[in-house]
Amino acid sequence: MATKKVLVAGGAGFLGSHLCRSLLDDGMEVVCVDNLGSGRQENVADIQDHANFRFLEDDIRKSSNLPIVDEIYHLASRASPADFTEFPVRIALTNTEGTRHLLEHAVDCDARILYASTSEVYGDPEVHPQPESYNGNVNIRGERGCYDESKRFGETLTVAFEKRYDLDVRTARIFNTYGPRMRPNDGRVIPTFITQAIQGEDLTIYGDGSQTRSFCYVQDMIAGLRSLMETDGLQGEAVNIGIENEVTIGALAEMVLKECDTESEIVYQPLPQDDPQRRRPDISKARRLLDWEPEVSLETGLRRTFEHFRSHEHGIVNQDPS
Ligand code: NAD
Ligand code: UDP
Repeated sequence: MATKKVLVAGGAGFLGSHLCRSLLDDGMEVVCVDNLGSGRQENVADIQDHANFRFLEDDIRKSSNLPIVDEIYHLASRASPADFTEFPVRIALTNTEGTRHLLEHAVDCDARILYASTSEVYGDPEVHPQPESYNGNVNIRGERGCYDESKRFGETLTVAFEKRYDLDVRTARIFNTYGPRMRPNDGRVIPTFITQAIQGEDLTIYGDGSQTRSFCYVQDMIAGLRSLMETDGLQGEAVNIGIENEVTIGALAEMVLKECDTESEIVYQPLPQDDPQRRRPDISKARRLLDWEPEVSLETGLRRTFEHFRSHEHGIVNQDPS
């Protein structure tokens, strides 16, 4: 059988770089396209010279030299709320124009495509936990709107392309995921808390810490994404991928303090606008369709992430803020 050729858009980012590695390990040919906005060359440094790997530095909104492939994972988009104020137009257009561009390329190649959507399509949810059938509660004009609403429109485009061109597109609604290779200064809560703890700074809880999230370890997420791509008969499906274990941000901070054995304390800062109060996926559809189950506990995942960050401590201090 011919080697499967896969395009990973956003492949130099956190999730994308783990995905590239996983595909290469299974003998696939991987082309990574990334504009290195929030991605880093060092994320793919150890696969850079792999015979089956190619890196294209390009923007998915306009790249004209994308290769013919069998599968496309569209993971390209900044995802940290800390970036929503600085890059709102780029984020909105990456998830709309960029998504259109990749969907058209999938039609041209007759490729299967997976779109990385997000739990943010549910906004600040009034239904808990969130099933795929919930239509969400997004503030389209709020600080998170450039991300949430553009991901929602990205999903609408996938549905339109599936209907019009019979495109085999699948949508993963990804819930909070963490692990090695997140940027220390990414702004998302786990890399922020771990970096603060390692540097002996106080951990910054936004609000009173009673808001909840359900944190999935990266290895489980990659297995879920691959299963959604590789299982036949799922054309047009949107599936939540995440973990059901829900914790308050206050409890998460305590876990990080315990794991890192640090002098750091907790300080409280204002809660950003539209910060969802509760979030937990209903993953019964993923269980049913994908024969998949997250396996890594938050304690284990935090320990692995902490070890990775500590062994790259130099990188924390000298992190390029771009
Ligand atoms: P990340 O910022 O580490 O990775 C995103 C990558 O996309 C980066 O390498 C960035 O340089 C690249 N990129 C952004 N815009 C681009 C453009 N216009 N052209 C080319 N490359 C571009 O974030 P991540 O956590 O790895 O997220 C990956 C995907 O998963 C995103 O689509 C995100 O919305 C989705 N997601 C992630 C999470 C999570 O918790 N990690 C949760 C929900 C959804
Ligand atoms: N958060 C926090 N301190 C930080 C960063 C984030 O308390 O330094 C909170 C944030 O307000 C949110 C939760 O942690 O309630 C998760 O934030 P993150 O940015 O990781 O993801 P998202 O809000 O998109 O789920």
